[in-house]
Amino acid sequence: MIVEIVTTGTELLLGQIIDTNTPFLSQRLNELGFDVLYHSTVGDNKVRMTEVLTHALHRSDLIITSGGLGPTQGDITKEVTATLLNRPLLLDDDSVENIKMFFANRQIPMPDSNLRQGMIPEGAIVIKNERGTAPGVIIEHDSKTIIHLPGPPHELEWMFEHAIIPYLKQRFPIQGIIVSKILHTYGIGESALEEKIKDFIISQSNPTIALLAKQGEVIIRLTAKSNTVIEAEQLIAKLEEQLRQRIADYIWGLDNDTIEANIGKILAEKQLTIALAESCTGGLITSRITDISGSSNYLMGSIVCYTNEIKSNFVDVPPQIITDYGAVSHQTASLLATGIRQKFTATLGMGITGIAGPTGATPTKTVGTVYIAIDGPNGIQCKKYTFNGQRIDIKYRISQAALHMLRQYTLSL
Ligand code: ATP
Repeated sequence: MIVEIVTTGTELLLGQIIDTNTPFLSQRLNELGFDVLYHSTVGDNKVRMTEVLTHALHRSDLIITSGGLGPTQGDITKEVTATLLNRPLLLDDDSVENIKMFFANRQIPMPDSNLRQGMIPEGAIVIKNERGTAPGVIIEHDSKTIIHLPGPPHELEWMFEHAIIPYLKQRFPIQGIIVSKILHTYGIGESALEEKIKDFIISQSNPTIALLAKQGEVIIRLTAKSNTVIEAEQLIAKLEEQLRQRIADYIWGLDNDTIEANIGKILAEKQLTIALAESCTGGLITSRITDISGSSNYLMGSIVCYTNEIKSNFVDVPPQIITDYGAVSHQTASLLATGIRQKFTATLGMGITGIAGPTGATPTKTVGTVYIAIDGPNGIQCKKYTFNGQRIDIKYRISQAALHMLRQYTLSL
């Protein structure tokens, strides 16, 4: 059973609006066990829309379109399908009634053009639009099914959840169940990770394995299809176990885990507190830690010590150290960690100093050079990293590195 999603609307092709209907429909259909194999987008043009729908009817069994059901002359989806399938468009009394009610309830006059929305291809199933005026349409044609949904996401999503899912479940009962699990990894690049689990990737069938590099980490998505949730989960558990034997050191979280929440849990459980002296990250790490509700239980506070004076006057880094080794150095980062730990009487202190760029590089320290230090019960740990990219990306990657370093440190306490 092949499913194709066709979004219509010239504004999509012009890049004026971002298509959110395709990801929504794809995700929900996949969760229901349907194989979505094609995505198409076409403008409000009869010839090209006919071409796209003809092609879709050839290669797919179920076609779901979005948009083009409105009252204006540019809204042509139903017209194109009606012509293509040789079915006349007829005025549907119930739809007209609903459209009139929609305007009456809002006490605004109904433009005559809105009656166009009540025109339905002969023999189609009409889906009432509880969120707008354009009804949805289901056309069963030989072995194929075409479903037309309105473009506005809140209308489309409501109609899909409340009317289309029940229809699909009744018409195509056995699609199997899809279960996905995400493994979050850190500390290894996408290609190196792929290399490590290449044999699994090459021989994948069910579950499938997908790698995705995302904001400084790589996620592995395992997706299994089966007749029951339990069976699908068992398939995933078996593969996860095999992968863990290979790459356990890199996996730090599952599904919707975030590193901030993960650390928060460890700090709270171990009753540890933390304070930060942030230079190049400008408070970003602290901000991410405070994204977690309850973080006041472990975060004492932080200082954004951007200038050398603030590093010395407020976090007690001796000016001579900065003169001798530089603000971006192993020594300064370590003293920032120790200084802030003492000042805030925290179990752990973190010092972060680096060059986020694009200016500020020196002959010995390139843009992206950063030192991250932690002082705590196990002594001082300081690491040097070098990141590439734009200023904002570098800052984010530094925060990722710092949070992962903190996780490692706290796990050992
Ligand atoms: P209406 O009855 O509102 O005219 P329609 O079915 O004719 O609905 P369109 O005119 O194609 O739908 O789109 C209406 C609006 O819905 C667009 O201006 C846009 O804001 C939004 N929209 C349409 N398609 C998408 C899409 N694929 N993703 C996100 N938004 C969309």
